[in-house]
Amino acid sequence: MTSKIHNSILILSLILFASCRTQKPTPRPTSPETVDFPTANIPLPAMDFNFILPETPELTMSHSPRKDITEALTPHDKSQIAVKDPKLFKENNTEIINLSLIPSGEYAFPLPNGNVISPYGGRRRHHSGVDIKTCANDTIVSAFDGIVRMAKPFAAYGNVIIVRHYNGLETIYSHNSKNLVKPGDRVLAGQPIALTGQTGRATTEHLHFETRINGVHFNPNIIFNMAKRELRSKCLVCTQKGNNVIVKSVDLLPHQKKGSYVPASPDKWVYNE
Ligand SMILES: [Zn+2]
Repeated sequence: MTSKIHNSILILSLILFASCRTQKPTPRPTSPETVDFPTANIPLPAMDFNFILPETPELTMSHSPRKDITEALTPHDKSQIAVKDPKLFKENNTEIINLSLIPSGEYAFPLPNGNVISPYGGRRRHHSGVDIKTCANDTIVSAFDGIVRMAKPFAAYGNVIIVRHYNGLETIYSHNSKNLVKPGDRVLAGQPIALTGQTGRATTEHLHFETRINGVHFNPNIIFNMAKRELRSKCLVCTQKGNNVIVKSVDLLPHQKKGSYVPASPDKWVYNE
């Protein structure tokens, strides 16, 4: 009997000891309870697809390459190289000229088949234009439609023609052996206006060709690819700063190209050439 009690005490002691050994340690403090993200459908704001067609002022201004220019010429207009057009830069200090909107029949390389013999600019002397050569008495044509502003001999320019164009630009043709048009004449792109010569300060018969806006000359290479004798498909951003005008040539954005976007469905627009 005593041994049975002893055995029972021993077993109880063992169980008690085992239960003490296997007692779990005090749990560490848990991290803050995870918050479930609401799974319910949250309605998104309705999309407005009109942003695909931005109605920028530039877009409106570049719709037509034809600008309102001053055609009533003063004696000053007919006798000076650098002349401002009071109708330009009237709305703001920027004029946009989208060359890609000028149809193929409304521009011409000023000296067909001519090659550049001296570029614009340069370090030693600032060349205000580009020199293009073929041969003596070759036909010089107007680069764009416009009105002849000046046609006379003028100092180092020799016989010079200046055409004010409806796109806002002016072009200058100098050293001519003969001028074929007079101030006030309306000319079309490609129309003969003078013959190449060596009048003024020139060492050979050639065309000195300048491009200007509001009297300020800029690189004609921005307008024409001189090697291909082609008009560039670019957009000119002309910004007036005091008496200066900075002309930047930018690539066309899709909405500035000749075609237009039309809606194919409420949320999809397709480009029409
Ligand atoms: Zn020159």
